[in-house]
This record gives sequence, C-alpha cells and structure tokens, in this order.
Amino acid sequence: MIRKLTELDLQDKTVFLRVDFNVPIKDGQVGEPHRIDSALPTMQYILARAKKLIVASHLGRPDGKVVEKYSLAPVQRHLQSALKLPVAMASDCVGPAVEDLLRATSSKVVLLENLRFHAEEETNQEDFCRALASLAEVYVDDAFGAAHRAHASIAGMAKFFAHKGAGLLLQKELDYLGPLLANPARPFVTILGGAKVSDKIGVIRNLLPKISSLLIGGGMAYTFLKAKGIDIGKSLLEADKVGLAGEIMAQAQQLGVKLLLPVDHIAADSDKKNPRTFDDAIPADRTGLDIGPKTAQLFADEIKQAKLILWNGPVGLFEVPPYDQGSRLLAQTLADHHPAVTGIIAGGDTVAAVSAAGVSAHIAHLSTGGGATLEFLEGKILPGIKALDD
Ligand code: AMP
Repeated sequence: MIRKLTELDLQDKTVFLRVDFNVPIKDGQVGEPHRIDSALPTMQYILARAKKLIVASHLGRPDGKVVEKYSLAPVQRHLQSALKLPVAMASDCVGPAVEDLLRATSSKVVLLENLRFHAEEETNQEDFCRALASLAEVYVDDAFGAAHRAHASIAGMAKFFAHKGAGLLLQKELDYLGPLLANPARPFVTILGGAKVSDKIGVIRNLLPKISSLLIGGGMAYTFLKAKGIDIGKSLLEADKVGLAGEIMAQAQQLGVKLLLPVDHIAADSDKKNPRTFDDAIPADRTGLDIGPKTAQLFADEIKQAKLILWNGPVGLFEVPPYDQGSRLLAQTLADHHPAVTGIIAGGDTVAAVSAAGVSAHIAHLSTGGGATLEFLEGKILPGIKALDD
C-alpha cells in the first residue's frame, strides 16, 4: 500500500522531499520553472505542518562529480521567490555540511545540493542511502519523472523510513495512470504517434488486451502501412519492424480491438516543402509528415465516443507547421469533450503538442514522466513506486 501525503503524520517532523527539479538553466537562471512550480502544492502542504522541509533533486548529468553549472543554486533563488520564504541552500546533500546547516539555520526549508554530485546516488550505494535517510523522519517522493531510476534518493533510501508516502504530483500520476492498467473505463481509446514503433512496442503489447481502439499516426504509422503493402514513399520506416507491425495488427483483430491507420496523408517534397494531401499511397519522392484531414476526422470521431483516451506521440511533425494540423485537431477535440472524455497525455513531445494547441488546461492529465510513464504503461514495476509500497 502506498500512503498519500495527506495520510502521513507530519506534525513537527523533519520531512525529506525528493522532487524532480531537473530544469533548464540559462545564464545562471532557471529557464523554464514549470517543474519547480508544479511541486509547490506539495511543499506548501508539508510546510503548513512539518518542523523542517528538506528538498532534494538532481540536475543534469554531472556524473558523480561537482560541476558548477549543475549546481541547484539558481533553483534556490527561484524557490525562494515562489514560496515567499527564505530557503537555505546546503553546499552538499549529505554529511557535516548539511547536518551543521540543519542545526544552525532558522529557515524552514533547506535545499540540498545536486544529488548527482555523488556517484553513489546513481549506483544506489547503501551507506549513501543511509546518510540521506539520517537527515529526516519522514520521506516523501514527488519525483515521478525519475521513478524508473533505481537511484539512492528514489529507490534506496525509502526502506529506512517507517513513515513515507507519495507527494501530490506523484499521487496524481498514480491516480490517472493506475486505472489505465487496472480497470480502465471503456471505450478506452489509445492514440500512438511519434517517430518510432520500437519505442512503443512494450506499451502496445501491455495495453492491447485492455483497449477498445488503437489509433496509430505519426512516423510510426508508415511501418504499419508498409506491412499492409501500401506505398509510403520516403516516409519514416523501420524496415526491421514491418513483420512485428503485421503481428500487432493480427493480434488486435484476434482481441477484437479496432485498429485505425491513416487513410490520407500530408506529404512533402524532399525539404519538407510543398505539402500536398494524398489518399492511401504516397508517391515515391514524397515524405508523409502529418495525417491528412480525413484521418484527423476519423480519429476525432473515435475520441468523441470514448470515455478514456491515452495519447502518446504526436501524429505528425508538429514542430514544423503546417504538419501540426493533425495533432492540433486531436488536442482540440479532446479539450472540447473534456470532462466527458478523460484525456491522458503521455510523453514530453505530446505534452508540447497539446500546449502548442493552447488547450492544456482542458485536458484531464498531462503526465510529467517521459521514460517513467512509458515504463509504467509497459507494466514494469518502477523502483521509485515499489520503494514507497509498504
Ligand atoms: P517519439 O519520441 O517517438 O514520440 O517521437 C516524437 C517525434 O516524432 C516528434 O518530434 C515528432 O515531430 C516526430 N514525428 C511525428 N510524426 C512524424 C512524421 N510523420 N515524420 C517525422 N517525424 C514525425
């Protein structure tokens, strides 16, 4: 059983909070604070009850060494103004530097320096786990984006705590992603797109028995179309996955899952110019870069009659207009049917496509995990979640 933050006794306790503050830093400032700001409710909840809040995160890949540009100092400055409270910054994440600061400071919040300045974080070394755990009485994990990593602050240190639980962000991920695997509302429609079939095979295998319809768009659709003998021109193709695409289509049929592939395409010439719409086959010298209007409508109709939608992977090269049209229409349709249709968006690119369409606020859940979300949907037990389970 994983305890919720609201079920933990935090009164006058010192709480260790693992967050994902792996934010872009530009000229010594936080470039994009979304990850920090989304953890504020968890921090505020703890601060209203606990004696002290210790906040820990990684930033970048310093590979076990102190690398100045990966210091969390810019995060401390942002956090201070976001919380409107003094935030003390420790020069390390374990040892006397932290212990002395905890004794001396009157700040209620202490931010530890980058966990990955110690190689023992990523190797999940036992003494390092114990040293981190010795700082606090309660452990709260709110770093879903890192939950697939068996690192000390994610997986290793939790066993030293009798009192531990999921922060509000992590809890929201579990509340939305958990039922997709356990007991999904139906019709349950999954939309898959993006560049590669190979990245999504695990998800397809795990979800196929649970879903009503599978809509495939984006670059990965061409490998499926190839398997059906349709000409795809110069579109993305994973030649070694054509057989597998055929198997997935056969399995979907056996399971009674409706599988929809694009019926028309926006295809460009060699430098992504001169987009034109083609039904079925794509000419030999052209590249499919978005689903066509008939496909977008077909997919939108599926969205309208669904109860639950999982969408991972944009259905076109959405970063380059006009190849964002298909993804935009799907995002808009999801937003228009919210909350009758529960929309769950997984993966950084898909979240970006939905944000670019300006409808993020009208979608039930934008998952914060990239790799973590995919591994969760593949049915893998994530080390960070297992560690919280009593
Ligand atoms: P993935 O990480 O596999 O979800 O892939 C996401 C990327 O796939 C995004 O950058 C999209 O622009 C890209 N993408 C989607 N459809 C296509 C396409 N038809 N051709 C090339 N790239 C695409």
